[in-house]
Amino acid sequence: MDPDCLFCKIVSGDIPSTGVYRDDRVMAFEDINPVAPQHVLVIPVQHVTFLSTADESQEALIGHMALTADRIAAERHIQDSGFRLTINQGRDSGQEVDHLHMHVTGGRKLGPIA
Ligand code: 5GP
Ligand code: ZN
Repeated sequence: MDPDCLFCKIVSGDIPSTGVYRDDRVMAFEDINPVAPQHVLVIPVQHVTFLSTADESQEALIGHMALTADRIAAERHIQDSGFRLTINQGRDSGQEVDHLHMHVTGGRKLGPIA
């Protein structure tokens, strides 16, 4: 845990969130500022700063994040209609929180990827 990290504080419960799913490796919660009718964030429980700092030992973890996102989409009935997984990486992407996270967005027709 990084004591200065917003999402680590969400994992620990120091900052409240609306939880969607949790197991020993990943946590999912509602984005505080949704950009689509469905907008969930899936994060690793352990602090991983960037996709670009993840190593091979975290491959399974990142795969588990993606499959967790897909299962959440299924539970929310947007798996068939379609949804998007987004990882913002670094400055040009607009990444704001330096704890790896996947955005799961859907529930309407999404615009083109910028
Ligand atoms: P990024 O731009 O880093 O890819 O995405 C960070 C996301 O975290 C944004 O969509 C933002 O709305 C969300 N966010 C920022 N602070 C909080 C918070 O305190 N709680 C929750 N649930 N989401 C947050
Ligand atoms: Zn963190």
